[in-house]
Amino acid sequence: MTKDLYSLHGKVALVTGASRGLGQGMAVGLAEAGADVIGAGISDMSETRRQIEKLGRKFYELKADLSEPDAAKQLVLNAVIEAGKIDILVNNAGIIRRSDAEKFSDEDWNAVINVNLNSVFQLCREVGNHMLENGSGKIINIASMLSFQGGLRVPAYTASKHAVAGLTKSLANEWVSRGVNVNAIAPGYMETDNTEALRANEERNAFITSRIPKGEWGKPEDLKGPVVFLASEASSYVNGHVLCVDGGWMSS
Ligand code: NAD
Repeated sequence: MTKDLYSLHGKVALVTGASRGLGQGMAVGLAEAGADVIGAGISDMSETRRQIEKLGRKFYELKADLSEPDAAKQLVLNAVIEAGKIDILVNNAGIIRRSDAEKFSDEDWNAVINVNLNSVFQLCREVGNHMLENGSGKIINIASMLSFQGGLRVPAYTASKHAVAGLTKSLANEWVSRGVNVNAIAPGYMETDNTEALRANEERNAFITSRIPKGEWGKPEDLKGPVVFLASEASSYVNGHVLCVDGGWMSS
């Protein structure tokens, strides 16, 4: 009985940035729980496809450059044509640019805000309309520890992730009574391409690792359980929540 609460059989999930890292981990986790998956992004998704098809689930690959202003609208149109519907949206695609704040360029600022915030809002709006028409849906935005903290040398990333947390709560208030839950996952320090520069810096790496109560960086697989929970009936009364998956970082 309780197990059925977590089943995603018959559901279709749209996951952005599903080619690698956290997006790949979450896409595979959703498929393990029974969902078919639409992967959207700019990089090759053959490894994600291989893992999902091995589970007997369908995988649809859609090219979409989310730095482009009209990409979200077109992506959602294509996704509904391909898969028939979208029950779950995971706004995962994201980028980071590092530079001292006083030298941070407009180009880097706009690049980060376009992918990490503007496209997230646009996808929430476009998929939100589709879900509101169907009277149900689950939206999961990927936030960060830098939705709560300032970080170092990443002002645009921090601004975008604070905004993602606020946007999640704002949409959650408007849509839950119409069947659409909006929540976020804030991963801690996870081993992916996105954090390669941090891990390559021995001093930063040692400092960060020593501050994580669990004593180790997270892995993409660590997001499988949390994303399935937020995508399933198990979380139907959870709304506007930013779930930290961080080995205890926020409490240390
Ligand atoms: P990653 O760099 O490994 O993967 C990012 C994904 O986004 C890739 O599939 C990439 O192709 C896609 N992408 C990038 N630009 C795109 C664009 N213009 N259009 C479409 N797709 C695009 O990063 P990751 O670590 O897996 O991060 C995934 C998400 O998790 C991001 O939103 C990131 O900010 C967030 N996050 C990561 C960590 C971490 O420690 N790795 C921590 C907190 C939050």
